[in-house]
Amino acid sequence: MSVITSTWVERDGLLRSPLLERHRVLAGFTTRAQGSMAGSVFPVDEQARNREKFAHGLGFEAVARVRQVHGNGVVRLDSAIEPWPEGDALWTDRAGVLLGIAAADCVPILVVDPVSGRIGAAHAGWQGTRLRVAQALVRALVGAGSRASSIVASIGPSIGPCCYTIDGARADLVRASGQSAYLREVSTGATAFDLWSANVAQLRDLGVESIEVSRICTLSGGHDLWSYRGRDADGRYGTQLGFIGRQG
Ligand SMILES: [Zn+2]
Repeated sequence: MSVITSTWVERDGLLRSPLLERHRVLAGFTTRAQGSMAGSVFPVDEQARNREKFAHGLGFEAVARVRQVHGNGVVRLDSAIEPWPEGDALWTDRAGVLLGIAAADCVPILVVDPVSGRIGAAHAGWQGTRLRVAQALVRALVGAGSRASSIVASIGPSIGPCCYTIDGARADLVRASGQSAYLREVSTGATAFDLWSANVAQLRDLGVESIEVSRICTLSGGHDLWSYRGRDADGRYGTQLGFIGRQG
């Protein structure tokens, strides 16, 4: 079991995961430089163009997406279909399919099984973490024949324990999910929730042995990223894409 931290690097305006990219995939996180990617205040067609341009830049036709609902549904996608199926995690065993998860504070969890070539991505905010969407994704890969111990996972840029608090009602729901170890009361009515550690523990509990944590906070991490918590006074914010794909 090894947890590696702080290894992500910025290249050509994209944050990249060196651990995952050791396994013949392209994997990382877009920045504001590529424009907003989905589900924010920006126009739908502008975000579709941004996704297409980004995919083409990496040598893919399109980004395979799901309609994220802060749940724990997992979808297998072997192409970029529309309308997007509902889910908060997706996986494929196909080369040439670029998987994308939109996030602007929520945790993008990217995985590869180097043995089978299966890849996956999950979207985990406080609700997805509470509902253990990372474990649902690993279980889907294991159900398809992967060994959990061969899966390599990376926790991408997202809001860190430095900046993320939730209210009492949400904290109670997290406690009820058995993850109180990752909560810390910082003031009356404000509880810090360490989404990074909670998701590492979820992966580790299922037997994933190689886990990287970018430890890049979307709000305070010093990169040019949108943060929902850090949105402008007028409420404007965009989203990045956590991405993983194997070129065909
Ligand atoms: Zn922070």
